[in-house]
Amino acid sequence: MGLLGIKIPEAYGGSGLDMSAYAIAVEEAARVDGSLALTIASHNGLGTGHILAVGTEAQKQKYLTRASSGEWLAAWALTEPGSGSDSAGLRTTAVRDGEDWVLTGSKMFITQGSVGGFCVVLARTNFEVPAQRGITAFVVDTKSPGYSASKHLKKLGCRSSDTVELTLEQVRVPDSERLGEVDQGFLDTMRILDGGRVSIAAMALGLGRGALEMALDYAKAREAFGKPIAEFQAIQWMLADAQTELDAAELLVRRAAWLADSGRRFTTEASMAKLFASEVATRVCNNSLQIHGGYGYTREFDVERHLRDAKLCEIGEGTSQVQRMVISKHLLRG
Ligand SMILES: Cc1cc2nc3c(=O)[nH]c(=O)nc-3n(C[C@H](O)[C@H](O)[C@H](O)COP(=O)(O)OP(=O)(O)OC[C@H]3O[C@@H](n4cnc5c(N)ncnc54)[C@H](O)[C@@H]3O)c2cc1C
Repeated sequence: MGLLGIKIPEAYGGSGLDMSAYAIAVEEAARVDGSLALTIASHNGLGTGHILAVGTEAQKQKYLTRASSGEWLAAWALTEPGSGSDSAGLRTTAVRDGEDWVLTGSKMFITQGSVGGFCVVLARTNFEVPAQRGITAFVVDTKSPGYSASKHLKKLGCRSSDTVELTLEQVRVPDSERLGEVDQGFLDTMRILDGGRVSIAAMALGLGRGALEMALDYAKAREAFGKPIAEFQAIQWMLADAQTELDAAELLVRRAAWLADSGRRFTTEASMAKLFASEVATRVCNNSLQIHGGYGYTREFDVERHLRDAKLCEIGEGTSQVQRMVISKHLLRG
């Protein structure tokens, strides 16, 4: 359906659509399947998004054409076993050796890390400067000697999305596969995450919408005390709150996407959208499961899967605490 190249320009085989269209596509996928939405979001928002933002023409020709056709899924590796929220604290190193760089270290929770065709890896290239000014990005062929992925991590939700720990043992990467300027990778990373956060917010919105639809259907069909449970005010209020909060989340997602499409800064708005939409999604999925009663707690209905998938949106691409840090920092700086 072209979803893997939705934001990639037509020149590289993609659909060339904007952030607003992309967010709607992720939302619609998440309405039914959080893992599929996460695969689409991480592929477009992170791995290919980074190449689209700062890649050379040769890198775009090589990677984006295969990414948009679906031949190669993209992975993106920032997080490490010892650094997640404090992402600049990463310890993977890249050392220059002639025309190559040699990458050594480990990465954690990498989506598509074992199934991706390539992985954008963030590594420390300069220890003489503050961490944020000494990080560089590289595109690594996942078949390179020294690149190895653990078994798929067992997770609470999004279980059909590939998540692995990576080990990089003296992985040789030619300088032509360096992505962006030397030592500037962290600044680029922050920009990439702004877009990524819009897509995780859209994923949360879709999961919440899907769960509310299930709750509505169930509430109309299930009877208790001689009438459909939809006729009880306690149920009606849960449904009303869910619809109201999801609409509010949708407006935040649309605003952040629209700002991105208008070429304006949208860091804070992306954080607000992700913070609000993810917490709303968890609440809506939880209440929708409650409306399903005992059946909601079983695998007979999809609502429990939506709840498990939604929780990720409060953690991935910056936890809710990190989003609050971003928003308050902006507020206090004026
Ligand atoms: C399924 C899944 C897929 C992922 N995919 C990717 C991927 O493709 N690529 C990638 O690079 N990463 C990926 N991640 C990693 C994800 O971005 C991190 O897990 C996340 O940023 C949190 O980092 P952490 O797990 O190290 O938690 P920590 O940073 O250790 O945080 C632990 C807790 O402390 C809180 N905390 C930390 N610092 C502060 C502070 N200053 N103030 C208040 N509270 C704080 C956090 O909010 C959290 O509640 C993925 C994670 C998951 C679960």
